[in-house]
Amino acid sequence: MLQAPESPLRAAAAPTAPPFPDADLMRVTDLLPPDERARLAGIRAVLQEDIRPLTAAFWNREEFPFGLLPRLAALGLGRLQTDGSSRLFTGLAYMEVARADVSLSALVGIHNELVVGMINDLGSEAQKARWLPGLESFTALGAFALTEPDHGSDIAGGLATTASHDGDGWVLHGAKRWIGAGTIADFALVWARDTADGAVKAFIVETDRPGFTATKIENKIGLRIMQNADIVLDGVRVPDANLLPGATAFSQANELLRDSRAWVGWQAAGIQLGAFDIARAYALERLQFGHQLAGFQLIQQQLSEILGNAHASLSLMVGLARIQEDGHLEMVQSAMAKATTTRLARASVALGRSILGGNGITTDYEMAKLFGDAEVLYTYEGTYEINSLIVARAVTGKSAFV
Ligand SMILES: Cc1cc2nc3c(=O)[nH]c(=O)nc-3n(C[C@H](O)[C@H](O)[C@H](O)COP(=O)(O)OP(=O)(O)OC[C@H]3O[C@@H](n4cnc5c(N)ncnc54)[C@H](O)[C@@H]3O)c2cc1C
Repeated sequence: MLQAPESPLRAAAAPTAPPFPDADLMRVTDLLPPDERARLAGIRAVLQEDIRPLTAAFWNREEFPFGLLPRLAALGLGRLQTDGSSRLFTGLAYMEVARADVSLSALVGIHNELVVGMINDLGSEAQKARWLPGLESFTALGAFALTEPDHGSDIAGGLATTASHDGDGWVLHGAKRWIGAGTIADFALVWARDTADGAVKAFIVETDRPGFTATKIENKIGLRIMQNADIVLDGVRVPDANLLPGATAFSQANELLRDSRAWVGWQAAGIQLGAFDIARAYALERLQFGHQLAGFQLIQQQLSEILGNAHASLSLMVGLARIQEDGHLEMVQSAMAKATTTRLARASVALGRSILGGNGITTDYEMAKLFGDAEVLYTYEGTYEINSLIVARAVTGKSAFV
């Protein structure tokens, strides 16, 4: 019987490695300058050889692998927003993390796009000095707290958490749901509505402040390594210095979401390449009717479809990185990329799961982990439907939200 792989890279590293071991059929890494190309190859090697084999056990236990944070920091994955990396490199790095493990790519992506990026772009000099060094080295963690129990897709208009100015600080009341790293972060970036002017503003809320509680959401079918939390803010008091001076309207949250939706597109490309890696290795090993699965026409068609989906997604993201680098990225392009790549990702992991037959049902063979994780990509950072509505509104001039 085929054994669960000890090293998922086994097929690629063996002397009998198949052609295109890294599956870069479109030679996308050739678009990077030599220094970034070499750095990306180094990141991929560590992720595939050292980190990926460890993740299924943590995923099964819904446990966060704190011991891996120094490894991620050593790869520079805590400072992608501040180290001058190109958008294409940053995106391909996100993709490689997702190819190894989607939960870790959620941690790295939220960390860079919505925590480091938010403090760097919208924070005060004092806030940057206090938090960025620790964040960049993964010795500090933050959470991005926007979604609420009663407001997900309609958060822009519906946000109900309140912030009231009182003396030399603010008092926050409300609840947040699904907040990534909420139970393990040092602080949460909480979006709340100012009771005085009705504007949505953001605050750094240290997680040890009285009135702040975070409860882990358990029994998820995907992203099980990421610790998502229900957060309650019961009269939490923060000083004036904790208001982010650049975050004084929901439009600033939208600018962050524009970029973080793009990050999910890279995740979707990565999960599909991961599904291809697993499915190809399995199809080359597994014998039925005395032949390798990889030699059957229907299996070949499915492998080809996964790879085509992955490269359609990747090509979309390479195009998006170009306009992002030029400073022309708008929500419509991010929404189109997010919706399209996650739709394809869902199809690709279903094909991959099928190629593994019964062994695709257990995470011992990895693919089932990807199958669950793809569902989260489809839904978070704006659901597939909401992102579709954003695209169609932009090209018709008609809003169909309500
Ligand atoms: C694992 C995970 C991690 C997350 N991490 C974070 C995080 O770190 N920080 C954070 O702030 N949030 C986070 N989220 C929240 C996420 O962004 C929301 O789940 C998402 O925006 C959808 O909101 P909802 O779950 O309330 O669904 P709902 O808004 O209740 O939607 C339910 C269904 O109705 C559909 N729908 C809603 N409105 C319309 C409409 N007008 N037209 C057509 N269809 C509609 C939706 O597409 C969906 O299919 C996370 C979610 C998950 C599952």
